[in-house]
Amino acid sequence: MSHDAKYDSGNVFAKILRGEIPCNKIYEDEHVLAFKDIRPQAKVHALVIPKGAYVSAQDFGEKASVAEIAALHRAISKVARDLGVAETGYRLIANSGAHGHQEVPHYHVHILGGQPIGKMVHLP
Ligand code: AMP
Repeated sequence: MSHDAKYDSGNVFAKILRGEIPCNKIYEDEHVLAFKDIRPQAKVHALVIPKGAYVSAQDFGEKASVAEIAALHRAISKVARDLGVAETGYRLIANSGAHGHQEVPHYHVHILGGQPIGKMVHLP
């Protein structure tokens, strides 16, 4: 997937945003939706996504409004607090594009925590 890829409105997070498939919702506001990852890789594993149609971190950073960018980061901190990991710590991951191994082409930030989650990067 290229950072310049056109947004595919058939992606799974777009379907969640349209209410076509369910999610385990944690938080929602005007610009943001947060829900539990369907295949958790840590005791706490949440996804925070913009409601806008942005393909990747690159796309979001280049095209989103300041209000959308601010809302996403506020939401991440709120969700981390609500999930009880604000004090113990957590990792944010935003896989972006092919080398970032992004699988779902709608920008999302993973919140991983609830336990120690090891070193930052594992190269293949
Ligand atoms: P990434 O590799 O960063 O694109 O991660 C995509 C994430 O989306 C993975 O952790 C999946 O487990 C998660 N995922 C895929 N489909 C769903 C879904 N329907 N509900 C919640 N999480 C999902």
